[in-house]
Amino acid sequence: MLTRVLLLTLTVALVLPAVVPPARARGKRPRVIPFEKPRPPWPRRYRHGVKAMPWGLGLANPGLWPTEPPAPRRVRQRRFARALGQLCRKRIAPWKLRALARWILSAARKFSVDPFLLGGLIYRQSRCDSTKSTPYGVGLAAINAPMHARSMRRRGYTYWVLQRGAWVERRLPLPRFAFTRSALLQPRANIYFAAAHLRIYSQQCPAIDSRFGSVPHRHPVSHFIWGDQVKDAGLEDRVLTARRRLLQYYTRVQSPTRGAFKSVALRCPLDGAPRKIATFWGEPRSGGRRRHLGVDFASTRGEPVRAVASGTVLKASTDLPGRGSISGARRNWKMGPGGLFVMIQHSDDLISAYMHLSRFIVRPNQRVRAGQLIGYVGRTGMKRDLAHLHFELRHHKKHIDPLQHIAPFVLVP
Ligand SMILES: [Zn+2]
Ligand SMILES: [Zn+2]
Repeated sequence: MLTRVLLLTLTVALVLPAVVPPARARGKRPRVIPFEKPRPPWPRRYRHGVKAMPWGLGLANPGLWPTEPPAPRRVRQRRFARALGQLCRKRIAPWKLRALARWILSAARKFSVDPFLLGGLIYRQSRCDSTKSTPYGVGLAAINAPMHARSMRRRGYTYWVLQRGAWVERRLPLPRFAFTRSALLQPRANIYFAAAHLRIYSQQCPAIDSRFGSVPHRHPVSHFIWGDQVKDAGLEDRVLTARRRLLQYYTRVQSPTRGAFKSVALRCPLDGAPRKIATFWGEPRSGGRRRHLGVDFASTRGEPVRAVASGTVLKASTDLPGRGSISGARRNWKMGPGGLFVMIQHSDDLISAYMHLSRFIVRPNQRVRAGQLIGYVGRTGMKRDLAHLHFELRHHKKHIDPLQHIAPFVLVP
């Protein structure tokens, strides 16, 4: 009996984090790694210039995340530049892309960091815009200069690593550029320092986690964003997702994982699978008057959205009857809660729907192949939320919970 109770408690403890809504919705703070001695000999590095981010964007249990796919050993510059162009999705001149790729690859080699991580970081932090400057950070990787001001001295970085229970001082010479705002606005210098900081943090994580009280995370890139104390693992998930997308564009190999509904194979509507689900099916909406009819994929505005299976476009329109035409600039509120959306009929009884798109590029009655680009992630029809893809499956026109059918390519908080 006792063992059964114990087992039940254990099961509940293991399963609960996977089924309860994200911490953000519950307004709870994530668990923190307990503090251990010895105390570090430097003042905590932290994000200057911004208020604390909301808690709970991360996963409750990073242990549930699968390991990240490895990067190829040899990386070809031209091909990397093309993949980077696909990720950044901006009109960047080809010569500029090639220069970016060259600088990323050489900095990655110099500081022994993964070039795909560096590329994903640059996309996440600035959308590949080297002139971007916010209170939080400057240039391509949005480097938070005040965070490192004390560590950057005489063209080098002083830091400590834990060896046999004691902090040992190390110094990484960084002679190429001055660590100034104007230098950080140059893509080459920014990439150089970003790679150096990534290397230092990967040597210090996880030793600093137990000394500063971070939340559980699985990658040193979290420290690049937060400094010594990681307060949320959600941002690292976004960087790693961008890395997986870049890797997919480079290798031109999609994730082999497929979901299925009966005999219809389903692929991920977004690149870089597996992807994180931010909101579940059936959660109450409008103060409990209705239910969430799909799942929300955490995503970035402008990301490509793809058909999950071959089929025929049933609708490509706004989510309100009688407002079929989308010509001209329409305000969000005129669209209905789904915003711009696409519906695809895959078989007699299966329909998929993609909502809140910034735009779509298919017409009703058009045939689409599995994986074909149908539109881009946006915020149409939303009031406050971050950009995301709302995805639905309908069986005989009845909404069903997509999660069990797409489980192989999603991460659940
Ligand atoms: Zn860490
Ligand atoms: Zn939704």
